[in-house]
Parts: sequence; C-alpha cells; structure tokens
Amino acid sequence: MKILVINCGSSSLKYQLIDMENESVVAKGICERIGIEGSKLTHKPAGKDTLVVEKPMKDHNDAVAMVMDALQDETSGVISDINEIKAVGHRVLHGGKFFSDSIIINDEVKEVIKACFELGPLHNPANLIGIEACEKIMPNTPQVAVFDTAFHQTMPEKAYMYAIPYEYYEKYNIRKYGFHGTSHSYVSKRTIEVAGLDKDNSKVIVCHLGNGGSVSAVVNGKCVDTSMGLTPLEGLIMGTRSGDLDPAVVQYIAHKENLSLEEVIEILNKKSGVLGISGISSDFRDLIAKKQEGDERATLALDAFEYRVAKYIGSYITAMNGVDAIVFTAGVGENNGVVREKVLDYFGYLGIKLDKEKNLNYREEGIVSTADSSVKVCVIPTNEEIAIARETKALVEKY
Ligand code: ADP
Repeated sequence: MKILVINCGSSSLKYQLIDMENESVVAKGICERIGIEGSKLTHKPAGKDTLVVEKPMKDHNDAVAMVMDALQDETSGVISDINEIKAVGHRVLHGGKFFSDSIIINDEVKEVIKACFELGPLHNPANLIGIEACEKIMPNTPQVAVFDTAFHQTMPEKAYMYAIPYEYYEKYNIRKYGFHGTSHSYVSKRTIEVAGLDKDNSKVIVCHLGNGGSVSAVVNGKCVDTSMGLTPLEGLIMGTRSGDLDPAVVQYIAHKENLSLEEVIEILNKKSGVLGISGISSDFRDLIAKKQEGDERATLALDAFEYRVAKYIGSYITAMNGVDAIVFTAGVGENNGVVREKVLDYFGYLGIKLDKEKNLNYREEGIVSTADSSVKVCVIPTNEEIAIARETKALVEKY
C-alpha cells in the first residue's frame, strides 16, 4: 500500500510517498514559493536523479497538480497510475478542541478545519486547499487529516486553562492547545520501547528542539502538558519565536515603536527567539559556530535557550511527580550533544547522569545516559511523515 503524505505550509507543500510494506520512502519533495514569483518543485525519487521544475504555481492546487505529474513523470516518476496511491495523509495544524485523533476527511471535517482558520491563520487555509486539490484529482481516494494539536487534547483542564476571564474560553475557545503533536506522540511511544518502560506506568518528557521547539509531559502515553499554547508562540525560546514573555511587553513595544498589535506579534513570531537575542541567525548551527569564535550574544542566545528548556523539564517533572525518561528530538535535539549536555547539567542534583562521551556525537536512536542514571536520557529522531502515514493506514484499513 502506497500512502502520500502532504504537509502544506502557507507558501510551500512538502510531500512523501511511502510504501507501507516496508515503510520506505519511494519519493519525496517540496514545492516552494507557491503564489510568489520563482515557484519551484524539487522531486527526489529513491534511486533516481532529482527533478527540479521551475514553473509558476499560483496556489496549492497548481502545486498538487505538479506533484502528481512528478510522481508519474516518464523518467523521474515512481508510479504509473495515480490509483497506486491508496490514501493521502494531510498534516493539519489546528484541530481546536474538536479533534483528539486523526480522522477520515468528509464535508463535516472540512467545516471544522475551516472553523479553526482563526486559530491557525497561516496554515489551516493552506491545509484545506491541499485537501480539496487532492480530492479533485483523486475523488475516490480516502483523505485523512492528522492534526498537530490532537495528541495534546488529553491535557487536563488545569493545564490548558489560561487565567483570563472564563467567558473568553467559553466564547472564543481561548486555551492552550499545543503543537508538534505527531512528533510528541511518535517520539514518546518510541521512547517507551527504546528505554524499556512499562507503557502503563511511564513518565516521559519529550523535548522537540528544531527551528520551532516544544516540550511535552507524557504519562502512560498520554500528554498531560505541553509548552506551546493557543498558537505556537508560547513556550521555549525558538529560532525566531520569543516563547514565553510578559504579555505587557506587547503593548510596550507597540507604544514605543508605534506599531500595531499584528506587527508586534509578527516580530515575536519572526524576528525574536535566538535570532532576536543574537542578532545573527535563527539557525542553531550558525550560533554554535559564532559561539566558538567567542561571540557574546550568540553565547547568550544559546544559554537562554538551554535555560528555558531546562526550566520546562523541571516544571514537568513536578507536574508528573517524577520522570522515567527525558528524550531529545528534531534538528537540534537529535544532532547536538553539547546542547543536550548543557540542558541536563541543570539536573545533576536529581542523579541524572549522561554518558558524556557517547552523548557528544550521538545522532541515532538510543540511550545516552549511564546505567546508574536515575532517569533514562534518550535520543529519538522524529519522523512525522511515517507517523502520519501509519495513522492514515490504520484509519483506511478500518474504513
Ligand atoms: P523545523 O522542522 O522546525 O524547521 P528542524 O527540526 O529541521 O526544524 O531543525 C532545524 C534546526 O536544527 C536548525 O536551526 C538547525 O541549525 C538545527 N540543527 C541541525 N543540525 C544541527 C547540529 N548538528 N547542531 C545544532 N543544530 C543543528
């Protein structure tokens, strides 16, 4: 069974065609600059040369059509007929309070995705266009929505409630939702297996540290708290996002710089985080290189980032009244042993012991703590596409 996984961003579309017999990636690619001058599709079929097509794509409909052409291309194609695709799994950013699981898409589901436009204004409209474009091209192929928010729907009220007038929760559904759910779900499940924990008696903290970052607390496989909020802006210091701050800062900046609320939020989303502090880059590799040259602000940005991650881990140990495993994933978490070590240095008092030598350059799936560490520390490379494909397969088989 071949499953196509689609992830539509505001101006991009990433895809992977996965053969579920052995979960191998048959082809993957990206459409960039959709709706902007210079649109381009890069298609990478397994075992064949990469195909690059530079052609205007006015919207995601054009992008989906180009992906289908590339998949069936005479030289770079990997299928001879579109019907070889048995289902499409769509990553959808925001499912609000409505979805705690992935779901086969029908008109009702599309209405709810639409109802969540205000909560995910950059992504949900693009997600819906991607879904409808696939429906047009493959009207008989089941489409599945896998929500970034779904895994976090098990949070208790006390964790997701903001301390603002309750009527705003009732009228506008303002609460914490959390994101990166597919990753937190996949990684926490793998951690239970890799660390040999009892799945019905386990406390896991997942640190998803990429360009965007979030931490989650998972008890017996269920999320009980997470660092992102109503939107992905809350929580950790990220590549370009500020994460937590005093909300009064928004008014203060607006006032001083004569900016609208929207403009300030844009700054907090796109010009803040480690980019904002360092003034150099949002890319952690650049900052690490600058730190090695002795750059003070790059060092400060990294110190502040690691400190924030440690504070979240500390608070989630409290939330769960203990922890069995702490796991690192995504670009920074999977690849950078120094960052992992600096975060865990805050927990020496708890008896968490890293195998420092093993950890330093460790990039695979496995355990990087010592045998006598009080808590297992793991590295689990995330794989959101496989997780989406598995969810899609399971739903389609039940259907
Ligand atoms: P996203 O999916 O959120 O865009 P990723 O999970 O791909 O992000 O992570 C991207 C980040 O990971 C970038 O900031 C990049 O610098 C960082 N990264 C990748 N490799 C390393 C490394 N070896 N050391 C530190 N950071 C790294």
